[in-house]
Amino acid sequence: MIQPKKNNTIDFIIVGQGIAGSVLSLSLINSGFTVLVINTPNLSTSSKIAAGIWNPIVFKRLTKSWLADDLVPELQSFYGFWENKLNTTLIHQRSIIKAFTEEQEKNLWIKKSIEGNLFLDINTYEDLAIDENYTVKSYSKVLQAGNLDVAHFIESTKTYLENKQSYKEEIFDYHKLKVTENEVTYNSISASNIIFCDGHLITQNPYFNWIPMKPAKGEVLTIHCTALKLKQDIFNKGFFIMPLGHDLYKVGATYEWEQLNDIPTEKGKDELLKKLNSVLTSPYQIISHDAGVRPSVIDRRPVVGHHPQYKNAFIFNGFGTKAVMLAPYFAKQLVSNIKNNFAINSEVNPERFVK
Ligand SMILES: Cc1cc2nc3c(=O)[nH]c(=O)nc-3n(C[C@H](O)[C@H](O)[C@H](O)COP(=O)(O)OP(=O)(O)OC[C@H]3O[C@@H](n4cnc5c(N)ncnc54)[C@H](O)[C@@H]3O)c2cc1C
Repeated sequence: MIQPKKNNTIDFIIVGQGIAGSVLSLSLINSGFTVLVINTPNLSTSSKIAAGIWNPIVFKRLTKSWLADDLVPELQSFYGFWENKLNTTLIHQRSIIKAFTEEQEKNLWIKKSIEGNLFLDINTYEDLAIDENYTVKSYSKVLQAGNLDVAHFIESTKTYLENKQSYKEEIFDYHKLKVTENEVTYNSISASNIIFCDGHLITQNPYFNWIPMKPAKGEVLTIHCTALKLKQDIFNKGFFIMPLGHDLYKVGATYEWEQLNDIPTEKGKDELLKKLNSVLTSPYQIISHDAGVRPSVIDRRPVVGHHPQYKNAFIFNGFGTKAVMLAPYFAKQLVSNIKNNFAINSEVNPERFVK
């Protein structure tokens, strides 16, 4: 629970301003709390380079992804609200084109959509030209999907925080932090609470380094191609191509669990190009190649709540491959918990890892 505020004491220090720290700081400010976000943008680039896609479907089984019925309306409401408030465009509504590689896949799709999965288009389609040389013979669409322009969202949030004197760009040194039952102090800053949104670098955080993370490195390419006919929807065939406008496309993504750093590799690039070249034979240029580390947890659920010992030190992390979709919903839960003691979904409670 939030502690009563003393003079000159802010309500929350937030460490990290990726997707998690951005969504949470805006949610807290909108509920009347004061925050100070401490962040260094380049310690972890996962959010900045992410495609920002939300996909309410698990393709393997064609089932809804965890809590999709609640997450999709919440993300629409959250990012829509901040689009108005910040007077900018943050999200793009898109379908995801799912190319069928075999008849069985198509039949399963038809069965699942008839059974009432509203995120699956009940119709199937034929002959979608990707470029002059490649046509998808059979496909359907995931509905109510889209993407957040993550880099722009983070930049806009940073400007908003700076205008409120609520942003400090520096490396947060965990060893300078003092947490007592009533207060949090960091250098000369005094706060009632602290929330860590430090992504996969939580493994270096002495307060929460016991959370069993399983971070996954990912790489993406941005290409320029005038021949690609995709203009709005995201194409998926075991990898994705997402139109960015002006003949630019994001192509992703890889998964790797060993070399956990933000350095793009030849291996990652080759893997993506092999997939891309299986559908695109027209000429294109690679504009950029980026990598980041997804903060995934061993049980694939986020971690949201307070420290088992310190009730004023929180974690908001573990959003893995789906931060865009999960963060608004769980920020709302955390803020309701802090304000009104509402329960947070027990599946994300950090105490699940306390023996
Ligand atoms: C290739 C790739 C593609 C992806 N595509 C998607 C997608 O399409 N849709 C989706 O929802 N998700 C996607 N993701 C996953 C998504 O990017 C992550 O879930 C998300 O970035 C996690 O956000 P975060 O804020 O928790 O962590 P981060 O993005 O890692 O942010 C943490 C922030 O804290 C800062 N920080 C950490 N420690 C300190 C410190 N000690 N002092 C100061 N600052 C600190 C970091 O520099 C960073 O700014 C993708 C990830 C990758 C790698």
